[in-house]
Amino acid sequence: MSINREYSDRIRSLMPEKVAAKDPSTPVSMWKEMDRLEGKPDKTMVVIFRTGGCSWYNFSSCSMCGYFNDVARNVTIQDLKKQVDSVLDSLGDTHILKVFTSGSFLDPLEFPLEARDYFLSRISERVSSLLIESRTEYITDKNISGLGKYGPRIRIAIGLESANDEIIKNSINKGSNFEKYVKAAQEIKNLDLELRTYLLFKPPFLSEKRAIEDMIDSIRKVKGLGTDISVNPMNIQKNTMVEHLWKIGMYRLPSLYGLATILLKASKEGAQVVSYPTGGNKERGVHNEKPDPELLNLIYSCSLEQDFSKLEDYISSLNLTGYEKFLELEDRNLFQPDIVKMTKRISAGTFLN
Ligand code: SF4
Repeated sequence: MSINREYSDRIRSLMPEKVAAKDPSTPVSMWKEMDRLEGKPDKTMVVIFRTGGCSWYNFSSCSMCGYFNDVARNVTIQDLKKQVDSVLDSLGDTHILKVFTSGSFLDPLEFPLEARDYFLSRISERVSSLLIESRTEYITDKNISGLGKYGPRIRIAIGLESANDEIIKNSINKGSNFEKYVKAAQEIKNLDLELRTYLLFKPPFLSEKRAIEDMIDSIRKVKGLGTDISVNPMNIQKNTMVEHLWKIGMYRLPSLYGLATILLKASKEGAQVVSYPTGGNKERGVHNEKPDPELLNLIYSCSLEQDFSKLEDYISSLNLTGYEKFLELEDRNLFQPDIVKMTKRISAGTFLN
């Protein structure tokens, strides 16, 4: 595996040595939202199980990932079973479930097989479709061949982020590569399971123009390998490299215009592509210069319906000449600074701090 050791170590140095004590028997969070795991918009329960976290944290972290802020030490199998029970208590009549873990559900050290079996057995009668997330190294025939026997239709989500290995290594620090993703996608297909591919829109050190091109290129490479693709625009999480760059004005968040461009292009090329941005129109999430609630709502609703015509109509009604000029200008810079943030720092006399 190819890693940029210096970059990786720098990201590691930003991670807190100690995380605040958390109750290991309660999930990080649970809520309900809309998704389309069964091919149409449906109410979907989401749970973030509290675990010891991603195995990659032992070495570093992805440059945008701050999930390590939510982990707990010494989470036992009994703790995980209690967390599972609270999911069942909150499920109500919802029969579609997405499970996140601040790491990989399929990592047997993070979510032991006994707890996995308890979870899958308990939900088998009440859940028809389940989404779980995993790094590629845990997607092996031996580790996942039993998943189908429990009943729910299973979609495994992989955070590929980009199909470009240079970006994976020198911007995202994923500790993985495209070849591993393709191998994992094949395993998933062989077992008749489903695959959702996460792509990250605008990782650090890329202009928005280049980031849009990377998403389109990545979508073309992965669209035949899985069930659907989720384009996740960057959001700023605590204690990460991306937060560090953003705070000093050396990272600018992507725009909703850019996200809409990707979705429109990808859907025209026949990709099943969705985007449900975290923190949209907020300071730490994807946004335009001025908040645009209508555009954000259209991104959600068109993703859910898989009909992007209203989004296309809305974008066609805008004059984007200024945005297009900005894309070209930003792309010519060596760095892609957040001009507004930098100007504020210069005015406050804190630019060199
Ligand atoms: S693999 Fe996932 S959980 Fe692990 S550091 Fe990267 S984004 Fe975070």
